[in-house]
Amino acid sequence: MGNGLFSGRNGSDALSVFLTAAALVLAVAASVITTEIARYIVSAVAIVLVVIAAARMLSTNVGRRRAENEKFLAFFRAFRKDPQKKAEKARRKEDRKTHAYFKCPECKKELRVPRGKGKIKITCPHCGHQFIKKT
Ligand SMILES: [Zn+2]
Repeated sequence: MGNGLFSGRNGSDALSVFLTAAALVLAVAASVITTEIARYIVSAVAIVLVVIAAARMLSTNVGRRRAENEKFLAFFRAFRKDPQKKAEKARRKEDRKTHAYFKCPECKKELRVPRGKGKIKITCPHCGHQFIKKT
């Protein structure tokens, strides 16, 4: 950023943007709240959030602010479902229509065989154990 107000300062980050957005939501909520005490509290929280966001952006302790931001991001990542795991689950579900999954009685490893072949003799590719299964 070079010179000016933000030189050597933390500037805007995801946490500050989130705090500002949350403050805006609260400000809008406060405008429709009819109970005076509730409106007062919500407005006060909104102001506090804006002040924290501004203080973080103007902070010169960049290392500490970055650590806070990382924690915030990690917190949100924990809530989000892993898209890779989700895709794997969907693939498996689709696959179960055409393939059956068995556990080898010998080595307990999972085997995948095509469905609809009736009773077949399965040879475990891991340990060579043979067993009969109905697909
Ligand atoms: Zn086996």
